[in-house]
Amino acid sequence: MIIAIDGPAAAGKGTLARRLAAELDFDYLDTGLIYRAVGMKLVRAGLDPADSAQAGETARALAPADLEAPDLREDAAAQAASKVAAIPEVRAALLDFQRRFARQPPGGRGAVLDGRDIGTVVCPEAGVKLFVTASLEKRALRRLKELQDKGLEAIHSTVLADMKERDERDRNRSVAPLVPAEDAVVLDTSDLDAEQAFAAALDLVRSGR
Ligand code: C5P
Repeated sequence: MIIAIDGPAAAGKGTLARRLAAELDFDYLDTGLIYRAVGMKLVRAGLDPADSAQAGETARALAPADLEAPDLREDAAAQAASKVAAIPEVRAALLDFQRRFARQPPGGRGAVLDGRDIGTVVCPEAGVKLFVTASLEKRALRRLKELQDKGLEAIHSTVLADMKERDERDRNRSVAPLVPAEDAVVLDTSDLDAEQAFAAALDLVRSGR
């Protein structure tokens, strides 16, 4: 059983995916973290994340320990991730790992994967596909609050502009662009809190199984 959760940044898909996995006793894979790890390896080495050859090589050499780096949640990592994510060689190098996790999850019961192309490219066979979205304004406000809660300084207009730029890069790239799968259920969380979004998603999963 595979549950695919896609959608733009800060729509609430990570929280939702983690909670669904815990509820169903499934394994969870945050695929964005993999792209962040590739992007930050390049940035730390002083290389350009948009350089296809270097990024492809870095993706092929990625090791599990790279996913533990402490700086992967920062906005710099998100921006670097969306640059490497537009490179076909990078996506090809990361595909097998994601598919293996989905089809043979470590716990053996099922897997929840969240990302941008899980329902369309990584696991088109997924039993349940959710496309979790929310308005740009709401997503930017959520991200702003997250940063402020961590004690970081953040400016609303900058957060909004960064998110818009990343959304556009994700939606307009030629490989695996951010788009709902034809058979995905769209869940708009603009006016839902985390609890309501979880209840709605769980209903969809239960009715889809
Ligand atoms: O989900 P998260 O914000 O951590 O993803 C960071 C970036 O990684 C996204 O903006 C997107 O460019 C890329 N990504 C992707 N495909 C995925 C997951 C993430 O292209 N399945």
